[in-house]
Amino acid sequence: MTGPADDGRRHEAKAIPIMEVAARLGIGGLRRAGLEHVGPCPVCGGRDRFGINPHRGLFNCRICDEGGDGLKLVQFVLACDFVKALDYLVGKADVAPDPAVVARRKAKAEAAERKRQEAEAAARARAIRDAREIWHAAQPGEGTPAEDYLAARGVWFPGGWPPTLGFLPDHPYLKFWPGRGTVAWFRGPCLIAACQNPAGKVTAVHQTWLDVGSPGQKAQIIAPDGSLADPKGKKWPAKMVRGSKKGCAIRLTPLGASGVMIMGEGIETTGSALAAGVKPAAAFWAGIDLGNMGGRMLKVPGTRWSGQPDLEDADAWLPPDCISQLAFLQDGDSHPKATRARLLSGLERAAHHSRHPDFMGWIVAAAEGADMNDMRKRELKDAGTA
Ligand SMILES: [Zn+2]
Repeated sequence: MTGPADDGRRHEAKAIPIMEVAARLGIGGLRRAGLEHVGPCPVCGGRDRFGINPHRGLFNCRICDEGGDGLKLVQFVLACDFVKALDYLVGKADVAPDPAVVARRKAKAEAAERKRQEAEAAARARAIRDAREIWHAAQPGEGTPAEDYLAARGVWFPGGWPPTLGFLPDHPYLKFWPGRGTVAWFRGPCLIAACQNPAGKVTAVHQTWLDVGSPGQKAQIIAPDGSLADPKGKKWPAKMVRGSKKGCAIRLTPLGASGVMIMGEGIETTGSALAAGVKPAAAFWAGIDLGNMGGRMLKVPGTRWSGQPDLEDADAWLPPDCISQLAFLQDGDSHPKATRARLLSGLERAAHHSRHPDFMGWIVAAAEGADMNDMRKRELKDAGTA
C-alpha cells in the first residue's frame, strides 16, 4: 500500500546511502570510530554522542534520543515530516527547515551545552579541591613506608628526598562501583605524589597504595565484590590519580639550570634513571601517564597510531621554556608501537612549542619486555648492592 506522498519514491529515497544523505544535509566533523562515524550532533551539538553506521544505514543521537534511517535523518535535521523528507531526498521540491523549530532546537542545544560545561567545571573544581586536601593531609614521605617502597625498587634521591612525595598511613581507595557510587574499596598506606601544573600549583595527586609487608610491592586491590581483576582480567590498579592531571608533572628534582629534562611515565621509572646517576644535573620529572606526555594524536588514515600531535590539544604537557633537551624514557613492557607513537607525538608537540632554536627531543628505550625499574633492580642485584 502506498500513500499519496509515497508514490514509489520511498524506495528511491531509501536507496540513497545514509552518508550521502548526511553530506547533503551538511553534517560535518564526523570521524571514524569502529564501524561508526561519530561527531557533534547536527541538532543538539552533543559531542561524540551522534553516530552514523553506514553499513546498517542508521544514525543515532544518544542525547536527542533519536535515530533511524536516511529519511528519519532528514526529518530529524530539517525538523520536517515524512512527506517533506521524501520531497527533499528525491528532489521534487525545495524543503527548508521550519525556522521556528530550528530556533527552538538551537536554544535548547545551547542551554544543554552550557549546562554540560558548568557541570564539567564544577566536577573539575571538586576533584582539584579533593586533590589539594589529600596533599595537605600527607606527611613528608622520607622515613615512611613510601621511602621503603621506593628503596626496595632501587629508587633513591641523591639530592635529597623530593618535597613532592608524601605519605598517608591510612588512605581510602575511593573508586566507583556500579550500584554503590564512589565508595572506599579499602584503606591502607599510600605514597602520595603532588602533580603540579606549569604554574607550580598542585591540581592532582598521584596515589600508590603499598603492601608494607612485602618491600617494593604495591597493595593487592580487592573490589567490593571480592574480585582481584576487572571482567577483562586486568588487575585492579594500585595506582590512581585524583584531580586534574593534564599538563602536570611530578617533579622529583628542581628544574635547575642545565636545560636538560628526563621524563618517564611513573615515579619508579623516572626515579630509576635519577638514582642510576645518569645526567646528574638534569631535571627528573615524571609525566604521570602516556596520555599526558603524548597529548592527543592526529588521526591519520591507514595508521593506528600516527605519532603526530594534534596541536589543538592545548592541555597536554609541555616542557618549561628553559628546557632545550628533553628525553622521554620508554618502558619496554607496554605496547611498544603505541607507546612509541605517543612519546613521538609528545616530543613533536614540545618541539613545535619550544622557544629554543636548538631544542632536541629523544626517546630512551628500556630493553624489550623490561621496564626501566626492572632493569634498575637487576643492575643493583648484579652489583651486589640489593
Ligand atoms: Zn542530538
